Amino acid sequence: MSQTAEEIAADRTKMQVSETEVAVEIKSMNKWYGDFHVLRDINLKVMKGERIVVCGPSGSGKSTMIRCINRLEEHQKGHIIVDGNELTDDLKKIDEIRREVGMCFQHFNLFPHLTILENCTLAPIWVRKMPKKEAEEAAMHYLERVKIPEQALKYPGQLSGGQQQRVAIARSLCMNPKIMLFDEPTSALDPEMIKEVLDVMVGLAEEGMTMVCVTHEMGFARKVANRVIFMDAGQIVEQNDPEPFFTNPQHERTKLFLSQIL
Ligand code: ADP
Ligand code: MG
Repeated sequence: MSQTAEEIAADRTKMQVSETEVAVEIKSMNKWYGDFHVLRDINLKVMKGERIVVCGPSGSGKSTMIRCINRLEEHQKGHIIVDGNELTDDLKKIDEIRREVGMCFQHFNLFPHLTILENCTLAPIWVRKMPKKEAEEAAMHYLERVKIPEQALKYPGQLSGGQQQRVAIARSLCMNPKIMLFDEPTSALDPEMIKEVLDVMVGLAEEGMTMVCVTHEMGFARKVANRVIFMDAGQIVEQNDPEPFFTNPQHERTKLFLSQIL
């Protein structure tokens, strides 16, 4: 049975957001690629337990912004603070932050020559120095959670796109992250596989994971996001609770964007 908008909103508000603990804070952050000013004065505070959906036209800087959060890209001005640690050139800190921040990309980036299980245990064994057996037990636990434990000994090429993306999520979870970043995790998938990946993400949200998700899956946004952010031309143009965001966007650029995708 499908839910009404009120029921969906009621479920969403059951997901707890901390009022005091900050997961990520971005302050007056600017980034350039050469001369190109790609991110302009970004301010964003993500509290623990928040589920933020970031949307906006292609090229607006969504990927660049979330890649700055785990230093896959470097910002040039302003501050990014992840779980109390400011991102600077200090490599030790960057390592620490990467351990706490999991990331899933549009293209799953699994190692093709490693089994699913090996993909999931690689970082725990080599980065976290976890004993192999313990890492494998943890990996199986997360593969069960994303509902593909039976694929553990196969190679990525033997799995469907949806299954590979679920492995990528399990692999991130094996590092026990405090925050998960998603960059269009379903946009390379065939339609019938989108739901199986979104279901896993909804489950994570229900368990209280702090999430920043770049996605245009507006059903997902309505279901789990406590805040939707709209970016255009390197700026955060508008942000709001999902219902007012979708039903009553304020900015012309947001209206235009929503009219094209909804
Ligand atoms: P989005 O994820 O919203 O589509 P991106 O963050 O990928 O946007 O890109 C924002 C802008 O920065 C685009 O104009 C893109 O062409 C440019 N860009 C992205 N990566 C690079 C790079 N490595 N070097 C130069 N320009 C880039
Ligand atoms: Mg992108």
